[in-house]
Amino acid sequence: GKRIGVLALQGAFIEHEACLKKCGVEAVQIRKAEEIEGIDGLIIPGGESTTIGRLMREYGLDTRIIEKAREGMPVWGTCAGMILLAKELDTDEPWLKLMDMKVKRNAYGRQVDSFETELDIKDIGKIKGVFIRAPYVEKVWGEAEVLCIHDDKIVMVRQGKLLATSFHPELTDDLKIHQYFVELC
Ligand code: GLN
Repeated sequence: GKRIGVLALQGAFIEHEACLKKCGVEAVQIRKAEEIEGIDGLIIPGGESTTIGRLMREYGLDTRIIEKAREGMPVWGTCAGMILLAKELDTDEPWLKLMDMKVKRNAYGRQVDSFETELDIKDIGKIKGVFIRAPYVEKVWGEAEVLCIHDDKIVMVRQGKLLATSFHPELTDDLKIHQYFVELC
């Protein structure tokens, strides 16, 4: 069976683990660079991107993730994970620089910083989108393909086997996006 890693440094990794198990695959918490070996894909969860980014660097996980992703390992970033995958950020220095997109942090502002809404995803269909101090994608280029636009904002992007969502499917009962990622792995 497939073994899918969930980066477990900070943030909502437990919820992703539970969703993967419901999809019938093995979920492995990843905290060290060597744990990246032998996994078929990696989820970078939501949380605080600066915290996750710094810890990733401190443990040498960033270079390992970049190498494996370039070799074709599927990676899916939700929310903070989307920020970590971007080649460009609006304010901060980018982290993994894997996906051809520019991401704006805390993009919805304070007034509507968290909300739920229905989304329509290319090839997947309708799902509930949970946004928590979410980023959105300001622009994509190169190989990146937009999979969902909500209110004129790009909220889901795919680039080969790399996936990024502004929202949190792991906080809903709907496993469609997890199943989609498992199929990529
Ligand atoms: N606002 C967070 C950040 O900038 C992301 C929020 C989330 O992952 N739910 O890192």
